[in-house]
Amino acid sequence: PPNEDDARWAGLSRAELEAYWMPFSGNRQFKDDPRMIVGAHDCYLRSADGRDILDTLSGLWCCSFGHGRSEIAEAIGRCAKELAYSPPFQFGHPMAFQLANRVRELTPDGLDHVFFTNSGSESADTALKMAKAYWRLKGRPEKTRMIGRIKGYHGVNVGGTSVGGIVGNRKHFGSLMESDHLSATLLPENRFSRGTPEHGVHLADQLEELVGLHDASNIAAVVVEPMSGSAGVIVPPAGYLKRLREICDKHDILLVFDEVLTGFGRTGSDFGATLFGVTPDIMTLAKNITNGAVPMGAVVSSAEIYRTFMDNGGPDYVPEFPHGYTYSAHPIACAAGLAAMDIFEHDRMAERAGAMAPYFEEQVHQLKGLRHIVDIRNLGMAAAIQLEPHPREATRRPFEIAMRCWEKGMYVRFAADTIQLGPPFIVEREQVDQMCNILADVIPTID
Ligand code: PLP
Repeated sequence: PPNEDDARWAGLSRAELEAYWMPFSGNRQFKDDPRMIVGAHDCYLRSADGRDILDTLSGLWCCSFGHGRSEIAEAIGRCAKELAYSPPFQFGHPMAFQLANRVRELTPDGLDHVFFTNSGSESADTALKMAKAYWRLKGRPEKTRMIGRIKGYHGVNVGGTSVGGIVGNRKHFGSLMESDHLSATLLPENRFSRGTPEHGVHLADQLEELVGLHDASNIAAVVVEPMSGSAGVIVPPAGYLKRLREICDKHDILLVFDEVLTGFGRTGSDFGATLFGVTPDIMTLAKNITNGAVPMGAVVSSAEIYRTFMDNGGPDYVPEFPHGYTYSAHPIACAAGLAAMDIFEHDRMAERAGAMAPYFEEQVHQLKGLRHIVDIRNLGMAAAIQLEPHPREATRRPFEIAMRCWEKGMYVRFAADTIQLGPPFIVEREQVDQMCNILADVIPTID
């Protein structure tokens, strides 16, 4: 029963917890058994009851350069005093242009223009609107249909939910935006693959089938994560993304990579696009762009797309793309972003992730053979452990595992039938060991 004197309630009463409707959470269970976080540093979260909790997911894949980076905190503090807000429509501030240049320099050649948003979800919907408007400006307004992928995640706004492919995120909301879906790239023969799976390049050919069904003249874009994160680290089979790129080129379909999670080092390369050697027409970003310290997202477009908007914009003072947010390029987010990009480059974060990845892979795959585990997948500093669903409540096992891990001083993400791991890139071998040891202790004890 709730004991409100317990430090875990952080001075709040059970009744006070009701005012906050928590996102993507079992509110009823949490409010009976709260897991309050009151601080964070390096690879640790500090719980309200005074424990250092090992963070195995970099917050939500977003604090990948480690928690509590003082360079970012100082940049935020300075900016809050000097310029806490600046209107982004028809006026600008220098940091927005500086950060756009930093992102442009890092992203693959050909991705040259950066549109700022405040989240991954906003980036997804911005990219979809950009793609539709692009075809209209090209004189092909019938190219409106979007193709996503089953098990894809592109946030929770209308467009991202539509092209997304996680059933639990879609089933409550009826029909949203016109879209269709490629199959997920999960194949039984790829179970327990390490890194990129061998089989499944043919799954990209489904795009040809969808072109056969809808006709390319009606299709605006294909939207995929280079590696699906939220559905449980689904790594594309060798050659798959290249094949998608070829089919898109053949039929004049834009290719959008959602790199909200893979962007800035998670795969051991700067981007999924760099790792797989495939450049999309549009790339969406968020999360690590500020190391999670301030909400921010970005949509990076090709020169061709940007030029099309500029060349068809009418009078030069009229917005070429009637889209944007009150907080687009928010100065405090830009300040945090510039500091985060300094850390990313100076501390060689992508290389650091790449250097730890083989050890991480080896340790995570040691869990194979434990009760309930039906698959383990990984790429760079991302891994997922898939569990056989509980016969009565399909998603119960990952939840129970995560609760026991929390008791043992470790935060893990549980979603659907997976436990997901994506530690900060500054993680040390001993912490990787600790992570896997706790999981090895806990998983077999669950019904
Ligand atoms: N796209 C991808 C690939 C993501 O992983 C996420 C978040 O996990 C999003 C979009 C949504 O981002 P946000 O939660 O910032 O809206």
